[in-house]
Amino acid sequence: MFFKDVIGQQSIKQKLIRSVREGRVSHAQLFLGPEGSGNLALALAFAQYLNCENRQPEDSCGTCMSCVKSLKLIHPDIHYSYPAFKLKAGSENPALSSDFLPLWREAILENPYRNVAEWLDFINAENKQGNISAAECRSIIHTLSLKTYESAYKILVLWRAEYLLKEGNILLKLLEEPSEKTLLILVAENRDQLLSTILSRTQILSVPRLQDNDLLQALIHKHEVSEADAIKIVRKSDGNYNETLRQLKNTEDNNQELFNRWLRLLFSPDTPLLYQWVDEVAKIGREAQKGFFRYALEFLHECLMLQHIGAHQSRLHEDERKLGDWMARNMGAGDWQAMADLFDQSHYHIERNAHPKILFLNLSLQMLPIISRKKLSLTA
Ligand SMILES: [Zn+2]
Repeated sequence: MFFKDVIGQQSIKQKLIRSVREGRVSHAQLFLGPEGSGNLALALAFAQYLNCENRQPEDSCGTCMSCVKSLKLIHPDIHYSYPAFKLKAGSENPALSSDFLPLWREAILENPYRNVAEWLDFINAENKQGNISAAECRSIIHTLSLKTYESAYKILVLWRAEYLLKEGNILLKLLEEPSEKTLLILVAENRDQLLSTILSRTQILSVPRLQDNDLLQALIHKHEVSEADAIKIVRKSDGNYNETLRQLKNTEDNNQELFNRWLRLLFSPDTPLLYQWVDEVAKIGREAQKGFFRYALEFLHECLMLQHIGAHQSRLHEDERKLGDWMARNMGAGDWQAMADLFDQSHYHIERNAHPKILFLNLSLQMLPIISRKKLSLTA
């Protein structure tokens, strides 16, 4: 991960970079900050920077062999420990983080801001508790005692030190006297849940909540959300980027549901239900309506990719695919153009204060002939 991809936290990034430049990197650090502050993201960016072969003043180079591997979380000298559970309940084999390594890479590359509950969900823990077991601690000691493969530092990033419980004391000696060029970066959210023995042996880096403006910039530039929508989302996020992502997903899910239902109503016209839909969408507010049209245009684009290039190039989610496949099978060049023009014009008119109820009703009437003349069935 690059420092530039970590949201906000400018002064912390500067502090970490300065510690490398001045050769004052503490061998046992605790990145302590609330959910969504980016404490893990900072740890990943720091690890990448430390082992970069061509460090730049503000970030790692991104092109050296070390960066290439760090970016994919496959660097042989950067290790990860995180809550895990026994693969087979009741078995003698202890819970080890490495059992979940491919999933860890996938989950963290997708969102390094996710919380433990979401991680456990990702690895299908169901009701199983995650922990960092005594066996995991012993495995850490073993791993860090091995020679480095190729880089400046051997690094352990331990995500959520709260999950160490008593077993964490196995690591004390390592925290006190690690071997040369070995770094331990612990990441945690709740100081109260940490072993005092760990707190006293690590240098604490306090990571604050994110500032609203940093979240706002991320939404506008990274996620292409309109400023008005972004302000609403940020207000509900409380400096937590993970919460921002959840809010964003809710908005997207809502657009997807509205759009999906609309096309189905157009396909097998049911006038009362269509009127009901128009009433509903007329009330969601102008910004949300603009969001609906942006979603609709993106959806058309993805359907076109599906039709012309194939499924591998489509970014449609699983639950959008059925409708997407149907569109790709049934729509011709003229249809795509007609729909795109309609959505584009509607977006334009919503922005200029058109009456939403009239606009959505008119739009539905213009869409009807495009959709309903397709003979193949669109089943749920
Ligand atoms: Zn590099």
